[in-house]
Amino acid sequence: MSEWTKSSWRAKPRIQMPDYPDQAALNEVEAQLSRYPLLVFAGEARRLKKHLGAAGRGDAFLLQGGDCAESFDQFSSDAIRDTFKVMLQMAIVLTHGAKVPVVKVGRMAGQFAKPRSAATETVDGVELPSYRGDIINKLDFTADARIPDPQNMLRAYTQAAATLNLLRAFSTGGYADVHQVHAWTQGFTEGEKAEAYREVANRISDTLDFMTAAGINADTAHTLQSVEFYTSHESLLLEYEEALTRVDSTTGKWLAGSGHMIWIGDRTRQPDGAHVEFASGVQNPIGLKAGPSMTSDDLKKLMAKLNPENEEGRLTLIARFGAGSVAEHLPRLIKTVREEGANVTWVCDAMHGNTIKSSTGYKTRPFESVLREVREFFAVHASEGTVPGGVHFEMTGQDVTECTGGVRAVSDEDLSSRYHTACDPRLNASQSLELAFLVAEELSA
Ligand code: PEP
Ligand code: MN
Repeated sequence: MSEWTKSSWRAKPRIQMPDYPDQAALNEVEAQLSRYPLLVFAGEARRLKKHLGAAGRGDAFLLQGGDCAESFDQFSSDAIRDTFKVMLQMAIVLTHGAKVPVVKVGRMAGQFAKPRSAATETVDGVELPSYRGDIINKLDFTADARIPDPQNMLRAYTQAAATLNLLRAFSTGGYADVHQVHAWTQGFTEGEKAEAYREVANRISDTLDFMTAAGINADTAHTLQSVEFYTSHESLLLEYEEALTRVDSTTGKWLAGSGHMIWIGDRTRQPDGAHVEFASGVQNPIGLKAGPSMTSDDLKKLMAKLNPENEEGRLTLIARFGAGSVAEHLPRLIKTVREEGANVTWVCDAMHGNTIKSSTGYKTRPFESVLREVREFFAVHASEGTVPGGVHFEMTGQDVTECTGGVRAVSDEDLSSRYHTACDPRLNASQSLELAFLVAEELSA
């Protein structure tokens, strides 16, 4: 086996990556990016790894969520704030239900590149290359827009840096202070779950008042006034990832500096492929999507390659089988993990196995299917005696109509009203909160 370098992926088969027409322009962008500051620090990635290890043991719970694809057009501080706020609300509900710390990880500040089920798209007899995310090409259906442009990497980097800057400010600058638990309901007052949220918030405020009265606040004030919030994305565009990969001076190990956690998609997880090769050599926590086609043999090879030292928190297995299919696929992978004595953190992505085309032509996900997959995931872990370590959702704090169902009952006809995703349909704020209550129930059962 040849030695890992940050470029060794280049000698492996690559799929789902663009062929840039202008090699010189690509080289120039890579050179520029490789001089830019890293977006995250190694100590932060190691800390997240510890938290994910705890989630794998049942001592914490992962909440991972955000856009399917971040976009240049929809970049705004309001959108970031709203998603951050809904994640805080969900985390409050989960912490309250599960009585364990919730590890908050955004699909944010780097989630720009998309794998696609087809290389081209045909509309009214015109066939063009598929849209692959704003870091690669543009969504507009014109030949020009679909040409991959390496300059998009620089823009994605800048947007990711600005996003992280805001997230860091929100996390520590007072916004995320748990004493604000009521303020987070602003603009979010409809529906049954808003009531339930206010009830949880009341109980938390009562507890805080009690703590102040009893003089308990002094030691804990710091932890209550800030949150740790981490970033993650699919490590798909390896030229971008490589340019932001550097040696961490504390440990001498490599760090993918584009985000705290990176994951490998269900389409690019070939054990001998470029994406697995790249991820195998960086110290970040790694997510690995597991869909119905994942065999025990694949999983064995992938665990050996991605976590040879069997480190806790290094490998998060993100199951995305689809409602109705979890019981068919998850047990065999749990068995493999058990046979190998491997440390993994099991997480449920209840989105990607549940995408359908609505009667009105939109790509959607019925909220009922999302809920059902979560329930099935918990049920399998309960019967296997293993730990459900977290959940992974595509969601936004904006009031979109992309997934059908939920307490506000989005119908097929409603989808056209606020369908803004650049790629897959996301849960809106109300659906996200509703889901958090369901997960909290499962966790406290
Ligand atoms: C995604 O997370 O947006 C994605 C494409 O997932 P998967 O690789 O599981 O299909
Ligand atoms: Mn998606």
